[in-house]
Amino acid sequence: MEFGSFAAHAADVEATDADLDVVAKVADLFGEAGDDLDVVARFVQGRVFPAHSETKLAVGPRLCYEALARAASTNVGVEDVEERLAETGDIGEVAADLDLGGQAGLGAFAGGDADDGLTVAAVYEDLTALADAAGDGSQDEKVTLLFGLFNDCSGEEARYLARLVLGEMRIGVGEGAVRDAVAAAFDVPVEATERALQVSNDYGLVAETARDEGVDGLDAMHLEVGRPVQAMLAQAGTVTDALDEWEEAAVETKFDGARVQVHWDGDEVSLYSRNMESVTDALPELVEFVEEHVAAPAILDGEAVAVDDDGSPLPFQEILKRFRRKHDVAEMRDEIRVELNAFDCLHAGGEDLLEAPFRERHERLRAVVGDESAVSELLVTGDADEIADFEEDALEDGHEGIMLKDPDAAYTPGDRGKHWLKRKPDVETLDLVVTGAEWGEGRRASFLGTFLLSARDEETGEFATIGKVATGITDEELADLTELLEPYIRAEDGQEVDLEPAVVFEVGYEEIQTSPTYDSGYALRFPRFVTVREDKTPETADTIERVERLAEQQG
Ligand code: AMP
Repeated sequence: MEFGSFAAHAADVEATDADLDVVAKVADLFGEAGDDLDVVARFVQGRVFPAHSETKLAVGPRLCYEALARAASTNVGVEDVEERLAETGDIGEVAADLDLGGQAGLGAFAGGDADDGLTVAAVYEDLTALADAAGDGSQDEKVTLLFGLFNDCSGEEARYLARLVLGEMRIGVGEGAVRDAVAAAFDVPVEATERALQVSNDYGLVAETARDEGVDGLDAMHLEVGRPVQAMLAQAGTVTDALDEWEEAAVETKFDGARVQVHWDGDEVSLYSRNMESVTDALPELVEFVEEHVAAPAILDGEAVAVDDDGSPLPFQEILKRFRRKHDVAEMRDEIRVELNAFDCLHAGGEDLLEAPFRERHERLRAVVGDESAVSELLVTGDADEIADFEEDALEDGHEGIMLKDPDAAYTPGDRGKHWLKRKPDVETLDLVVTGAEWGEGRRASFLGTFLLSARDEETGEFATIGKVATGITDEELADLTELLEPYIRAEDGQEVDLEPAVVFEVGYEEIQTSPTYDSGYALRFPRFVTVREDKTPETADTIERVERLAEQQG
């Protein structure tokens, strides 16, 4: 395909607003792309190489400006390019207006024409050479190659070439549009295309397969050990969200480190970052761990965490000193230890597991990793108190918090869906007066356990109930709290105790809801004991007005 034809299509797409029309136009482009379909399917998204590829273009803005200035008519310097860019904000616009005709004139002089002959294949070939250039003098080589390309460009071609090399295509074609265009162009189902993209992470390959082998070809595509896939991502969410949505939540520690995808074919271990860059050489102890403890073949998902001598997690900054390191890896390895915390299994024993429910994938993970300490602990429960306890342990162990996952959800690469939630920490706390309690049971029969909380009504000076708190309290604290509250017992009725307002608790929660259950008209979702506010009296505790305000702020 002529690069000029690609550019014309790109311009047409860029001028199109409606999503459906964009898809139709991209599908047309794919239909005409011929042998260059794989490259075109990437170029149209502003990608030169497949996302999983180790080859990166690495063209900085300065290099591109230099090549453009050189290809432009005389008297254009890098500063002029920068100046024009500052005015327009679009390198494509600048390139298109640069009058590359000066050099086209040279071409014409040699009997050529600027629009003549520049093909998508030639552009791709030169960009590959450009990416491969390394070592002394490679910068010059890169500028020369790019200059050569711009020199052969018409204004319209230069517009899209400049944007392509700087990763700023921006013609409104996202991954979804390419997926739909592949489906439309080659008459294959969107779902099969989507699945093939997830397992291969290669738009070019999927487009070609759809065209040449149809839906059967797409269905036959699988994960490949050594070819990274996009990581599944999480949204912020609450225990309320999780338990409203799912019967049970799969609860895990949220490790504070760097995402790592482990590929192990029995011969070689490859490790990839969240952006699918190779980080294998930077983390030799993970490579050794996998070689020793993981049954091949396998693709695992997890977090690399820096730990101290006791195995306690170190702050996030520490893993960064190791994660992409190219030099002095051995020295740094002695200084900062890195451990794997695997939490998912995408492929094991020759079987792709993306579609298996999380609880099953986690079981496979445990089976495939020989050392349990490298596998995330998993709690599957519908009980908010159990989740709160798990979270407390995780925080106590120095972790960032917890993740809540839908135990029945598939692994959806690249998707920041609702199936993985990183629990938002409690934002505001409330200082509430303890106006009642209940004696515990069994082992805790001599302790007050559940505490009734009230907010102050500023107008009447009365205390209105708002909820009960029983979580977040250790056995030791229960004893202390009982001792603290016993003197204020006014009346008892079975397990129930009525307390004179005297002691103030600081309480965390996820959400304030309106509720007929309590006098205040509000209730707290998942209240958790934080501490006793020794410095506060019932008169300085939080008011119902503040509760109302907070409830409104939640929207
Ligand atoms: P964030 O980076 O704040 O969006 O949180 C999501 C990230 O948390 C993921 O990309 C992982 O790198 C990390 N993470 C830590 N522990 C887990 C876990 N148990 N499950 C999934 N992701 C985790």
